[in-house]
Amino acid sequence: MKKYFLFCLLATLAWSPAMGADNSAKDAYKPAVAAHRGASGYLPEHTIPAKTMAYALGPDFIEQDVIMTKDNVLMIMHDPQLDTTTDVAKKFPNRKRDDGKYYAVDFTYPEIMTLTVTERFDPKTGKAVFSGRFPVDSGIDFKVPTLEEELKLIQGLNKSTGKDVGVYVEVKEPAFYKREGKDITGAVIEMLDKYGYNSPNANSILQIFDFDAVKDARAKGWKGDLAMLVTRSGQHLTDDKAVHEWLLTPEGIAEVSKYATIYAPWFSLMAVPNADGKGYKVNDLAETARKNGMKVHSWTHRSDSPFKGFDSSKQALDTAFKEIRLDGIFSDFPGDVVQYLHQEGLRD
Ligand code: CA
Repeated sequence: MKKYFLFCLLATLAWSPAMGADNSAKDAYKPAVAAHRGASGYLPEHTIPAKTMAYALGPDFIEQDVIMTKDNVLMIMHDPQLDTTTDVAKKFPNRKRDDGKYYAVDFTYPEIMTLTVTERFDPKTGKAVFSGRFPVDSGIDFKVPTLEEELKLIQGLNKSTGKDVGVYVEVKEPAFYKREGKDITGAVIEMLDKYGYNSPNANSILQIFDFDAVKDARAKGWKGDLAMLVTRSGQHLTDDKAVHEWLLTPEGIAEVSKYATIYAPWFSLMAVPNADGKGYKVNDLAETARKNGMKVHSWTHRSDSPFKGFDSSKQALDTAFKEIRLDGIFSDFPGDVVQYLHQEGLRD
């Protein structure tokens, strides 16, 4: 009984700052978790089942990567090509481009709906990219969802659960689509606007690797949070490596902050692995972004494959939240990060 009383007292003390009249709870450090491509550690990425499972794991945001079809339908898929997550090579063997790849922009929405989505695989070997995950040859006819379907799914689940899980929408390869005569950034903003996501208070974040498109998003009227994704290799279909090198400099970061509210570099650009691959060093990239008024998010945590230089997922999360003090992280295993944050007292 005495022990129970002590527990209650401690629990009350632990909770009292959050319940107090001051604003300490509001200002408390509560980093956000984004389910990267859904619960993609467990199910084929960017499928409705993967998003539904992700929702149940309790993240703050669920991620959408958006591509566009020949007939201008916005669909959810990571790559602008269909090669590594669908059976396009079997169903449309003659529709590849000269580089040997099948581009979603060359296919209509009805055509893409005939494809089966699988666990991500290497088209050369047919083997899964991450072993030990969902079977590539499961025989289940997973489909490519549209952006609109996914927004409806999340809003529907928010209604039925009473929760408020946000969307974290990436416009894929805007420069490539521009060359194809398509304005993917404008189309995504229009769709998000239709579903009530285009406002500073909406539970939505727009994310882009292309700095010109980040500026363009503001010019096209995007009012919500906007994340500048940064990585040394830049975009896949546009050579903008020099731009990304510049985005890592103090001058680049200051320029980004005129448009973006979130600076989102790859994790290993902030916790840089040592040359021998053992250990890492945290640099001042996140601090520089914060001094420029931006939040800092990063990607991508996996429970089964720690970042380079790290021995474990736990060590990486400790560094992410206790050292770099990330405001948000993408994870293929969002439930594990949610659980970690609970355990560390960083989540209600
Ligand atoms: Ca993404």
